[in-house]
Amino acid sequence: MDPPGHPDESAEPVDVLIIGGGPAGATAAAVLAGRGTQVLLLEKDRHPRFHIGESLLPRNIAVFERLGVLAQVAAIGVLKPAAEFVSDEHGSAVAFPFSLARGARDPYAFQVPRAAFDQLLFDNAAARGARTLEQCRAVSLDPAPAGGRALVRAVTADRQHLAFAPRFVLDASGRDTFLAGRLGLREPNARHASAAVYAHYRGAEFRTGEREGCISIHLARDGWFWMIPLPDGLMSVGFVAHPSLFKSRDSSMAALLAAQIEASPTVRARMRAAERISAVTATGNYSYAARTSWGEGYMMIGDSFAFLDPIFSSGVLFAMMAGEMGAAVAEAWLADPRAGRVLARRAERRLRRGMAALGWLIRRINEPVLRDMFLSANNRFRMRDGLISLLAGDFDRPLAARGPEFAFKTAYHMLSLAHRIGLRLHPDGQLRRAPGGMLAAGS
Ligand SMILES: Cc1cc2nc3c(=O)[nH]c(=O)nc-3n(C[C@H](O)[C@H](O)[C@H](O)COP(=O)(O)OP(=O)(O)OC[C@H]3O[C@@H](n4cnc5c(N)ncnc54)[C@H](O)[C@@H]3O)c2cc1C
Repeated sequence: MDPPGHPDESAEPVDVLIIGGGPAGATAAAVLAGRGTQVLLLEKDRHPRFHIGESLLPRNIAVFERLGVLAQVAAIGVLKPAAEFVSDEHGSAVAFPFSLARGARDPYAFQVPRAAFDQLLFDNAAARGARTLEQCRAVSLDPAPAGGRALVRAVTADRQHLAFAPRFVLDASGRDTFLAGRLGLREPNARHASAAVYAHYRGAEFRTGEREGCISIHLARDGWFWMIPLPDGLMSVGFVAHPSLFKSRDSSMAALLAAQIEASPTVRARMRAAERISAVTATGNYSYAARTSWGEGYMMIGDSFAFLDPIFSSGVLFAMMAGEMGAAVAEAWLADPRAGRVLARRAERRLRRGMAALGWLIRRINEPVLRDMFLSANNRFRMRDGLISLLAGDFDRPLAARGPEFAFKTAYHMLSLAHRIGLRLHPDGQLRRAPGGMLAAGS
C-alpha cells in the first residue's frame, strides 16, 4: 500500500530523494536507479565544478567496477601505485606500494581532477535512470510522519520553488551537513583539529620510476603537505596544520602557503620551478561527525555524516562506500522500515569502525614516534603490512583479520615507552639514543 501523504499535497511524490550530487549522492543514485528504484538527485551547483579531494584508494576500484565507470576514471586519472611519506626531520622518504597490501584485490588507485570525476559519476547516475536536477538547492526538510513522506523544499537558480514528498531521503550534501546542521547533530572532532590551505601548480617536480604517480605526504615541522600529481603536468599541493597556525597569521592565505613551502626543505626542493595556476583555497577546522547517521526516513552519507582529516585520502572512498550502503538502506526501508533500521544501524557501525581505525593514526600523525615508524622501512611485528592495508583503504576489516593493525599499535605503544627514556626508532630499523632530534633534513 502507498504510504500516507505529507500534509502538503502539492508536493511531487518521489520514492528516494538525494540531496547533493558529489561522490556519495551520485553513487547512491546510480545504485538505486540501476535496481529500478525511482530516485531524484538534487545538486545545488552545476557540474563540472572544482572540488578538493583528488587522491583515491585501491579499494575504490571495486566500487568503480560495480558502477561500471572504471574505464572512464582510468581515462581522466593518474595511476597511483603507492603512497610515499617524506620527512623533513629524518631527511628520508619511504614508499608504501599497494602491491604489498595483504589480501588487497587491486594494487593501484587513481588521482583525479575532481571536476571531471564528479561529473562522470553524476552523468553515470543519470544514464542509469536517476532523475537529476542541477542548480537546485534543497532549502528545508520536514521529516516524515510515521510511515509517511517527508517534505523537501528546493529552489532553482532561476528562483523556482519546488516541493517534493519523498518516502526516503539520503543527505549527501557534503561539508554543508544539510541535515546534521538542521537537527543539531553535528559535533566537532574533539580529539583532532586541523585546517588546510591548497592550490594547483605547474612545473613542480614529479616523481619518476617506481614512485611515478604516487601521492607524497611531506611531514613538516608545523604540519604536513600533500603533493598529488594530476594529468597535464598539474600538481595539487596542500598544507595541513592545527587551526591555531592559520589564526595567528598576519598575511594572506597565499602568503601563508608560500611561506610554509619555503620552510619545508623537501617540499621547497620540488617546488623550485613551480608556478601557481589556481587561486589559493583554505578550509577551516574541519573534522566532525554527526551523533547519529540516520533517523526515521533519512540517512546521511559521505561528508554529510562525518569528515576525517584527509592525510590517508579516505574521504571519497568513505563517501562511495556510504553511497552504496545508503542505497541498500533506502531500498530496504521502502520495502519495510524495520529492515531499513537494521541495515542503517549496521552501516553506521561499519563506517564508524573504519573511521576509528584511521582516526587512531590521524591523531598521532604529528607525534615523533608515529613519524619514526612511518619512516622506518622495517616490517617487524608485521607493522608495515598493517600500515599498508590501512593506506589501501582496508580499514573496516572484521576483528579476526586485523592482526597486522594490532601489531602496529602494539609496536607504537612499545616505542612510545622507549621514546620516554630517550630512544628513537631510526630509518634503519634500529633503536638508538637521539639527542636533540634525528638526522639532518634534506630532500
Ligand atoms: C583539504 C581537503 C583535502 C582532501 N583530500 C582528499 C583526498 O586526497 N582524497 C579523498 O578521498 N578525499 C579527500 N578529501 C575529502 C573529500 O573531499 C570528501 O570526503 C568527498 O568529496 C566527500 O564526498 P561527498 O559526496 O560526501 O561530498 P561532496 O563531494 O562535498 O559533495 C556534496 C555535494 O552536495 C552539494 N550540496 C550541498 N548542499 C546542497 C543542497 N542544500 N542542495 C543540493 N546540493 C547540495 C554540493 O554542491 C556538492 O556537490 C579532502 C577534503 C579536504 C577538505
